[in-house]
Parts: sequence; C-alpha cells; structure tokens
Amino acid sequence: MHRRSFLLALAAAPFCAHAQPKSLSMKDIDVLQKNWKTLLPAGASVPSAAEPLKLSKDEWKKRLAPEAFKVLREEGTERAGTSPLNAEKRPGIYACAGCGLPLFTSEMKYESGTGWPSFFTTIPGVFEQKKDFFLIYPRTEYHCKRCGGHHGHVFDDGPPPTGQRWCNNGVALKFIPKDAKV
Ligand SMILES: [Zn+2]
Repeated sequence: MHRRSFLLALAAAPFCAHAQPKSLSMKDIDVLQKNWKTLLPAGASVPSAAEPLKLSKDEWKKRLAPEAFKVLREEGTERAGTSPLNAEKRPGIYACAGCGLPLFTSEMKYESGTGWPSFFTTIPGVFEQKKDFFLIYPRTEYHCKRCGGHHGHVFDDGPPPTGQRWCNNGVALKFIPKDAKV
C-alpha cells in the first residue's frame, strides 16, 4: 500500500467502523422491511397507517409533553445528543410518540455520529415527505402517515446499500423493547 493511501485508510477507519457494522444487500433490506413484526413484543397490538388519527392542536397539546409537541406538531428539532434513544441498542420497535404507529425496527438503526437516532431504512408505507426550506437549501422533511406528526429529515449520505439517512428526533419516537410485557 502506498504511504498516502495507508494514511487515508487510517483516517477513514474509525468512521467506517462506526457507520456500518456489517454489510447488507438490498435483499437484506427487503427482508428487514418485510419481517419488521418479528421485533414486536409477543401479543402487542399496534395501529396501522390505514387508521388516521386526527386531533386538534389543543388535543395534541394535552396529549404530548411540551418538547414532543414542539417537534411533532411544530416541526421543531431537538438539540443534538440529548435523546436517550441515541444509545438504545436493544431489539425492538421505534413507534411514533404521537400515535403509536411502528416506524422503524432496531435492525434499521445505525450510529451516524450526528447526535440524533438514525436509520438507513423504514418500515414500508409509514411516512409521507415534503421539501422544506427552513435552512435556505431544500431538505426532505418526513412525517408520520397516521397522525401527520413531524419526525425529521431524510438525507442521501447514509450507509450502503440504501444510502439513506433517516435523521429522526428521539423525542418523536417511543421505543418498544421486544421483551416488553404487553
Ligand atoms: Zn404518528
């Protein structure tokens, strides 16, 4: 190896090790998406995107903690590094904190190093997207299909094979461990 490329490899190594522990194929992603229910606790009943939840602003205010209200209903962003879900590694489901719709599984999560819980794919059919211009340049906002709650932004600098980084506010998520008693 040339000295220069060796040094570059050294410099890049911590990020590679961080970003993607094992390499997945698109077929693996398909399997993760199809089998998401295997990460639910036995006997758990969860809502589906086909049963919309529409509440008034006042009803949401009563239902959600102030920080969750700000993110979910007013498209706020939590401070990076503040969510306990950054460090969550147990098997389970990440559901919408507003309406309980399952959005991601633990197998879709990765450490992006950004300070927000990050995922490289989602449970299918649970989000809708729109472009926003809050930071001048366009970003793709995504929100829960069931309750319309804002969750985060999706970027194209995620790990292979999807290349997606679903950057989610932790306060908008509720983690349901697979071994939870329901
Ligand atoms: Zn929701």
